[in-house]
Formats: sequence, structure tokens, C-alpha cells
Amino acid sequence: MPTQHAVLSASSSNRWIHCPPSVRLSEHFENKSSPYAQQGTDAHTLCEYKLNKFIGNDVTDPTSTLEFYDEEMEQCAESYATFVMEEVAKAKQTTVDPIVIVEQRLDFSRYVPDGFGTGDCLVIADGTLSVIDMKYGLGILVDAYQNPQMMCYALGALELFDGIYDIQEVKMTIFQPRRENVSTYTLLKEELLQWANDVLSPVADLAFKGEGEYQCGKWCQWCPAKNSCRARADHNLKLAQYEFKPPELLSDDEIEEIIGKVDDLVSWSNDIKDYALKLALSGKQWTHHKLVEGRSTRKYSNDNDVAAAVIKAGFDPYDKKLLGVTAMTKALGKQKFNEILGEYIVKPKGKLTLVDSSDKRQAVTVNNLNEEFKPLTEEQ
Ligand code: SF4
Repeated sequence: MPTQHAVLSASSSNRWIHCPPSVRLSEHFENKSSPYAQQGTDAHTLCEYKLNKFIGNDVTDPTSTLEFYDEEMEQCAESYATFVMEEVAKAKQTTVDPIVIVEQRLDFSRYVPDGFGTGDCLVIADGTLSVIDMKYGLGILVDAYQNPQMMCYALGALELFDGIYDIQEVKMTIFQPRRENVSTYTLLKEELLQWANDVLSPVADLAFKGEGEYQCGKWCQWCPAKNSCRARADHNLKLAQYEFKPPELLSDDEIEEIIGKVDDLVSWSNDIKDYALKLALSGKQWTHHKLVEGRSTRKYSNDNDVAAAVIKAGFDPYDKKLLGVTAMTKALGKQKFNEILGEYIVKPKGKLTLVDSSDKRQAVTVNNLNEEFKPLTEEQ
């Protein structure tokens, strides 16, 4: 894993491609790493080790040094290394000796000032350069399609190998084991280079200089400036200033416009509230707001003492409950879980929700609705 940080990092490229001035604006803010960052680093270390071992390289087992090592991480690293080896086996069908490179520093500074990153794995076979990236996160399902981080890595890989091998296409794969997600995007080398020259390079120059237009979107959630950014506030406050003109009832078009903005508005207002609270906790006095104690519920001062007291009084203090799917998977390990409980696992239908029409999930039509989804009438 890289220890330095590029000004225009590949991992934040989706943000600065959409909002170039965010890069320099963010320099005024501390970019706090999430509590999951170390867990991700540990997972990558283990993946690197497993893959090197599978390839036959002489490596030392890092497990004892990993802070967040657990059964789930072990299974994920194993499945990542197995996946890569399967890709290599596929490559061997057309190429005698495909090249496999683990944890390679990739320099794409030809297109992005000081741009570099680390590719988890590269496989080079006849005509095809594969870039594989392991994502240990659970929160967001990562899509490889037109993923600028992967495209930056691919450009860095081309810098290294395009002159040596005859590469015609580039295949980018996200392997996200905890979401059982394998997402692949393949494009011709020429298409990638055209994007680099026509889109990436000009916008990277703007971003590096702190120029360009502010643009709000989903990427704001990762921006260090998100709590104080005026462009984001203006964008979200537009909805609050919505002019509700007569007639008294909103039109369908107006309702659709509001639905499209409301998620961003909620996430922005929550960010602002968290930020203001953090400042208050560090001593800031707001003019019209104050810190108070929230409501609290009763709890035991010591679980063991409580259990002992209840047992002594002749009662059973425990309620034996079946572990949930996640806790049970953790207890048994993924493989044992599937062996023992595979046939008992069902996936109930998800709660219906209204999303943007660009969402990849198939639309549910009202005629297909099961009884469970039918809206209740007032009489019910
Ligand atoms: S919060 Fe959003 S709009 Fe503001 S600088 Fe960051 S990415 Fe750009």
C-alpha cells in the first residue's frame, strides 16, 4: 500500500473529475481516514500474501501483525487469490506464459500531475492487460464500468507494459468479496487513451490549478470540504427555497423533481448537523444553538453482577437466541456456514423503494406485485 498521497489520487478521481476545484478547496481540511481504513489495509496485506503464495513466491505470513484479522478476512483473501489464479488459468488458454504482477506502483503522471497509485494485481496475456482491484468495503457496491480509478490504474499499467507487450484491450475488474461482487469493464486500448487525452488530462490540469466549475453529486460524500462547501449548500438549499406556487397541490413533475433531490438534501443536512456538533464539542459556542444531554434509557452497571444476582434469586437471566446470519457466518466460517445451513437460507424480497430510473435494478411493475407489497387501504 502506498504511504504517500498524490494530490490528485486515483481513488478520489471520480470526485475531482466531476468537481475539479474540490482538490485545492479540500487542502484546507483534514482528510480524516475512516475507522475502516486499517481494516482495508490489513485485508490487502493478506490478499497480497495469499496471491504471492499461490504464485509460488517466497513470502512471509503477515497474519500475526494484522490488527483486524478474522475468519472473514481469511476467507476473502483466499477467494481473491483463487479468483486471480482462475483469471491466470483462463489467460493460459491463449498465452503460454501470462505475466502476473502483484502490488505494482502505477504512474499515470503523463495525464494527471504527479498521478500514481498501486494496482493490486496485473495479468498480462496475449493482447489483453488485466487490472484487478480488491475492495474490502461493504458499504458501497463498486462498479468497474467507466470507473476512473481503474482507468487511471490501467493507464499506469500501459505506461509500464505497452512498449513490451502487444496490448490491444484493457480489462478492469473489481473484486469485492464481502458483497459477492465481481464487476468487469473491458475497452480497447485506443478508447482508454482517447479518454485519457480528451477527458482526464484536461480536467486534471484544471483540478491541479484549483480551477474549473464546482459540481455537486454523489461524490460530495467523500469530499473533505463537504461540510463547509458553499456550492454544495447552494445546491441543496435550492430545494428548500422551492417556490410552491398555486395551485395548492404539487404536480407530478414537481414531486419527481423533489424526489430526485431529497437524498442529497438529507445527506447534506446530516453532514452539517454532525459538523456543527463536532465543533460544539470542541468548544465552539453557537449563537442560537446549545449542547444538551439527549434522552437516555436505563441500563445495567455490570452485566455479570446482574446475572449473578438474578441467578441467586432463583431466576434465569438469559434469553437464548439464535445467532443472526452475519454472526453465524462469522462463528462457523463461510464454507462451514454454506455446508451446514445453505439449504436453510432464504432471501426475502426487499422492501420496495423508489429510485432514479438510471438504477440498474429491474423495475417492479404494479401488476407483478405480490400481496405482501400491496398498499394497505385505510380500512385495513
Ligand atoms: S463538497 Fe461537492 S461541490 Fe463542494 S467541493 Fe466537494 S465535491 Fe465539490
